[in-house]
Amino acid sequence: MDLGIKGKRALVCASSKGLGLGCAEALAAAGVDLVMNARGSEALEASADRIRAEHSVQVQTIACDVTSAEGQAQAIEAAQGVDILVTNAGGPPPGLWSDWDRDDFIKALDSNMLTPIAFMKALLPGMMDKGWGRVVNITSQSVRAPIPALGLSNAARTGLTGYVAGTARQVAPKGVTINNLLPGIHATDRADSLDGGVAAQRGISMDEARAERAATIPARRYGTREEFGAACAFLCSQNAGFIVGQNILLDGGATNLTM
Ligand code: NAP
Repeated sequence: MDLGIKGKRALVCASSKGLGLGCAEALAAAGVDLVMNARGSEALEASADRIRAEHSVQVQTIACDVTSAEGQAQAIEAAQGVDILVTNAGGPPPGLWSDWDRDDFIKALDSNMLTPIAFMKALLPGMMDKGWGRVVNITSQSVRAPIPALGLSNAARTGLTGYVAGTARQVAPKGVTINNLLPGIHATDRADSLDGGVAAQRGISMDEARAERAATIPARRYGTREEFGAACAFLCSQNAGFIVGQNILLDGGATNLTM
């Protein structure tokens, strides 16, 4: 399918691996030039080189922590004039409701709520001036149904969701859409780390932990970064201009909801 976005330019935050990389790859396959980002430069440069070779698009890399003020300034400067913004960052650690103090909450809010808001505030005006833009925030299934051990994530991402719900309606008249993609479990390093925690806690192997979790998903498997990226690229396409302020679950049916 021609997504109609060849020649556009996108900033994809936290995109050397995992879901962010899936989004970068799918946008590049649609002919979009990229600004890619991660903290570590080795995987970032390797992914950028592969994307340039496979898709013949321009890829600029910015190695920085997007949750820090300096990192945000660097990435935003490189991304001036982008048509598409995909926000993403690592997720907060798991724990028990009583584990976290104020500093833990501030850190989670900074990473998973205030960072995407800072990127939107900086880059939406340029999109609105052009009369066209697309923002996709990578959040989590935890905003539809809480994951008890991920209380920091539940809290911060739900705050972002509330912000997007109002803001998407304010920028839509200018041809700019903002939507959230809500991953359920996908086969990435993040999933390995969560499964590793379960395996260690329960004294089972990683394969057993994965198989147990896959068995709870109606699709009976984890999602892939390619599937996730394809959904992101569709939301960034010309065809998706009437999809505004939505929260789209990609979870193999895991969240047991009628609507
Ligand atoms: P991942 O496989 O661990 O990849 C994370 C990517 O983000 C890497 O490229 C990493 O590179 C980069 N990154 C992390 N923190 C960063 C920061 N502060 N600044 C810049 N880059 C950063 O993670 P993932 O599975 O793709 O998850 C992406 C997001 O989706 C996370 O917030 C996660 O909580 C959420 N999520 C994932 C799942 C899942 O099943 N995978 C489910 C629900 C929600 P560097 O380490 O080099 O910076």
